[in-house]
Amino acid sequence: MALTCTCRVSARDDASPARRVGRYGRAVDAADEPEFDDFICTCDDDRRDRAAALREEVRQRIAAGSDERAPHEVTAESFVTDLIWSLNWDFNVHITEIACDQWFGIWAETYDRTFKTRIQCDSVEDGLAATWRAFADRPSPLKFDSQ
Ligand SMILES: [Zn+2]
Repeated sequence: MALTCTCRVSARDDASPARRVGRYGRAVDAADEPEFDDFICTCDDDRRDRAAALREEVRQRIAAGSDERAPHEVTAESFVTDLIWSLNWDFNVHITEIACDQWFGIWAETYDRTFKTRIQCDSVEDGLAATWRAFADRPSPLKFDSQ
């Protein structure tokens, strides 16, 4: 039997992190700034499996290293630390807000504010993984293409 995701249904609630974006003018107020929006839900087995695969993919990709850092072990204990480090040094990105009511909202952006993410999630770890992948896989910033 397919389960209904109650967090998505109630995402229209005014108290949800999604609604607070507009109220505080975060993330979606500048029309010329590319944005990434997603919801990592774990309300059924399939979604839990996908979220676990996402975390593992991101863990392995961070562990593989980058121009800024040699390959290194990323454990469950160091996952958040390594991920935040990579956001900063690999992608010039910082987390601007993590909020919680019925579920979580994570906002992040490049320091030059040319690309922003808003990830809603049932687990902060999943949301951070989705945030990292959004920046790692994003297209090149448009402003550099137009020159
Ligand atoms: Zn859900």
